[in-house]
Amino acid sequence: MSRKKWMGIILSVVLCVVSVRGAFATSAEDLSKQATEYGNQAEELEKNAKELEAQQAAAEALRQELLASLSVILDNIEALKADITAKEMEIFEKEEELLLAKNDENDQYESMKKRIQYMYETGDAQFLEILVKSKSIKELLNNAEYIKTISEYDRDMLDEFQAIVKRVQEQEEALQGEYADLQVMQNELLIEQENLESNISGQEALIGELSSRITEAENAAAELRRKQDEAAKAAIAEAAKAGASLVIGNGFFTHPCPGARISSGFGPRKQPIPGASTYHKGLDLAAPTGTPIYAAAAGTVTMASYSGNAGLMIAINHGNGLATYYMHCSKVFVTPGQKVEKGQNIGLVGSTGNSSGPHLHFQVMVNGTAVDPAGYL
Ligand SMILES: [Zn+2]
Repeated sequence: MSRKKWMGIILSVVLCVVSVRGAFATSAEDLSKQATEYGNQAEELEKNAKELEAQQAAAEALRQELLASLSVILDNIEALKADITAKEMEIFEKEEELLLAKNDENDQYESMKKRIQYMYETGDAQFLEILVKSKSIKELLNNAEYIKTISEYDRDMLDEFQAIVKRVQEQEEALQGEYADLQVMQNELLIEQENLESNISGQEALIGELSSRITEAENAAAELRRKQDEAAKAAIAEAAKAGASLVIGNGFFTHPCPGARISSGFGPRKQPIPGASTYHKGLDLAAPTGTPIYAAAAGTVTMASYSGNAGLMIAINHGNGLATYYMHCSKVFVTPGQKVEKGQNIGLVGSTGNSSGPHLHFQVMVNGTAVDPAGYL
């Protein structure tokens, strides 16, 4: 049963109880109060469950965002790992190159030494002195006046080999620098990955916790709704026992406003307010504004508009000369020509037109004559 329908029943039970207070006041009144109280508590819990659901949806959205970020990070890490492996290979190759360059340099140095040795053995004392004093071949080459005695060829070759070694060394250093940068980037990404993963598990834990709290709230609300239903039924039964004017739809027609109190019956009556008829052509069913109105039977809407004293009204043709009117509505949900089903919500109770308070004027027409709706309910 819908919440609106429920509110209608509860409120009309309350109205009814108020109107017949005295004869059965305690029991029905208490039961209806209880039903209202259960309804309020249930509503509170249902609101709570909705809020939790919104929180859960937000957590889920955040989790999805984090998962998307994580996926990007993992891709970046993969790419970076490939870069690092490639860089390691480059460094390895550069080191080999450096080794070969150093060999070349060394070979050249050795052959140069042999030539110097030869010069010494052929008796050049000044050269020997320079050779002994020089701490390195470089010093020897740069400082010695005697350098000119070494062939231009040896000197050029050595310069060239040394330049190669220097260049390869510089290249290797650059590669090592790039390698270190890649490692730093990878470490940063790994930290980011860790943060994202822990954030995701946090959201998952929150979602799980919210889920169980939602279930709890929903179960408690359902239990309260069940109690509310029970109390409302008991209140209606008590009221009926005491002879109150309660109508429960179970006749040929579905009741157009279940639970409403009959505030004015069909037939002759005193004029309730100026302008009202003394012969009442329908049944007045008092219910709060906004209570749903249901089509008493299937048919075609022939009217759904404002009509003077009747206020906002709906007329339905059920065929075989049978028609029903619903007057004083606050809202109508149907339009002329529309087919409606038995029990379809066609409008809401109101107090439009000539009316002293919110109620549904329900009228049954047989071949154009108003008849007592009681026979159809
Ligand atoms: Zn009426």
